[in-house]
Amino acid sequence: MARVPIAEGIFTGSDEPRLIGSRCGACGIVTFPSQDACPRCASTRMGEHPLARRGRLWAWTTQEFPPPSPPYTGPTGEDFVPYGVGYVELGGEVRVESRLTETEGLETGMEMELVLVPFRTDEEGNEVVTFAFRPVG
Ligand SMILES: [Zn+2]
Repeated sequence: MARVPIAEGIFTGSDEPRLIGSRCGACGIVTFPSQDACPRCASTRMGEHPLARRGRLWAWTTQEFPPPSPPYTGPTGEDFVPYGVGYVELGGEVRVESRLTETEGLETGMEMELVLVPFRTDEEGNEVVTFAFRPVG
């Protein structure tokens, strides 16, 4: 069994994962996911920009039921487990919408760090991983 990312080009590594964003070479805005054209100034001088591994929780909620499928490909029915969803501000550059490892004990402004978590098992028996933020400490 191998660990495979849920999609290419979204995050790097596994021990010290980082999200892959993009930064505009003209105006400096940072986006996630990465984009080919700047959403602020329309420049195409977008370069790959690894995001900070840690940030601050800005807002969150709990996903109590499976999202619409497609695009959702995770567990449904009795296999579904509610999970946290929130926005984490990274490096004062960008707010990222992400799964959270917790559904309780969360506080606005608390420090969060990026981790990779199991999402599902694919047809070949590989463990598909996605990214999530967990409270630090
Ligand atoms: Zn720009």
